[in-house]
Amino acid sequence: MQSDVTIIGGGPVGLATALSLEALGLSVTVMERAPASTLAEAPFDGREIALTHHSVSVLKNIGAWAHIPEVAISPLREARVETGRHNHPLTFDTRGRGVDALGYLVSNHLIRRALYAQASERPGITIRGGTATQYVRNGREEMTVVHDGGEETSRLVVAADGRFSQVRRLQRIGAVVHDFRRSMLVCRMAHESPHHHVATQWFDEGQTIALLPVNGGASSVVLTLPSDRIEALRHMERDAFNAQIMQRVGNRLGRMRLVSTRHVYPLRGVYAHRFATPGFALVGDAAVGMHPITAHGFNLGLKGQETLAQEVAAAMEKGAPIGSLSVLRRFERRHRLATAPLFAATNGIATLYTRDEMPFRELRRAGLRVADMLSPFKNAVTDMLMDRQKTA
Ligand SMILES: Cc1cc2nc3c(=O)[nH]c(=O)nc-3n(C[C@H](O)[C@H](O)[C@H](O)COP(=O)(O)OP(=O)(O)OC[C@H]3O[C@@H](n4cnc5c(N)ncnc54)[C@H](O)[C@@H]3O)c2cc1C
Repeated sequence: MQSDVTIIGGGPVGLATALSLEALGLSVTVMERAPASTLAEAPFDGREIALTHHSVSVLKNIGAWAHIPEVAISPLREARVETGRHNHPLTFDTRGRGVDALGYLVSNHLIRRALYAQASERPGITIRGGTATQYVRNGREEMTVVHDGGEETSRLVVAADGRFSQVRRLQRIGAVVHDFRRSMLVCRMAHESPHHHVATQWFDEGQTIALLPVNGGASSVVLTLPSDRIEALRHMERDAFNAQIMQRVGNRLGRMRLVSTRHVYPLRGVYAHRFATPGFALVGDAAVGMHPITAHGFNLGLKGQETLAQEVAAAMEKGAPIGSLSVLRRFERRHRLATAPLFAATNGIATLYTRDEMPFRELRRAGLRVADMLSPFKNAVTDMLMDRQKTA
């Protein structure tokens, strides 16, 4: 089989990439290991994705936003960061910015379903579910993806197979891997008191906990603990779990009740040494797998695929080959500039706020006090959280 572009991985970034490249008039094949039925009806996976304004406009441009039910979009009006039990919170809001929300929370599985619904309607996109890629053969003129159902030949291969990307490894592209030796448990809980669409991230001794406001009188609970302690919580009997979470959040939302399945993610940050080789590009978590603390993994993934599509469009206009190294290197340079500072800052924040030794504890208390007094700092972080940059 032959197409202009083969994308390995039909996750959210792989499907967004397919839509952006197909919009340029290219034929695109997406190879996804999971069966097509799982893509169409992606199950709840616990992740609530905080989308920036820019990400919302990208999703609108590629036609996926319209597939997300309005009742499932929760505006984020304010974000608070606290440390310890009785400390002054650092707050971010939209005052003076002419918009009603810092960003929007949408469940990851609904984003995946929306992207799949849109991609499967496009005539230039073929999605092969249940197809695991085995390896990629690099040729001078074309690339061949060898999968368990045969081969696919194309001018450009894009790997979007997640942070533990097997294809990245097979292409001999190394990566910086930062193991935080913590895991994150995520689930939805209904509660008595209203959340007023305020997100709270709370760094306490021995735990980090975030409450993300979703619609329907519920919040997403995001609890970070050393990996060996998280499994017990995942399997804990429901009433005991409810009681433990209420105590961990200081009873601030009244009675709480688990209303979803519980999911656990080991925390590892990954940054690929290269994002491109001739005929080959990495996008999404396969290129940059962020610690979720700054809520930017998918937002950066959307930006990366947008940059790739812009460089491919520029090459097509000039009649240059879309898989040439000079085209892909421009994508790589721009995406590195957009991601490297945030990746480093995120790792720094994640380390500072999850270690309980003395200098870290004092530093974060002092850090929050100082940060809350510095309006340029707060403005810069609010700008980053919102990302209101226009789409092309
Ligand atoms: C708890 C949590 C909260 C988060 N919150 C936020 C947030 O608020 N904001 C934000 O921007 N980001 C957030 N993120 C990050 C976000 O979820 C990821 O950045 C995003 O899902 C990455 O998408 P992806 O398509 O690159 O990779 P993935 O979602 O990992 O998809 C990869 C796909 O590739 C497929 N695949 C793998 N190997 C193969 C193969 N060999 N052949 C074929 N297919 C293959 C997989 O089946 C999968 O479908 C969060 C992450 C976590 C864990």
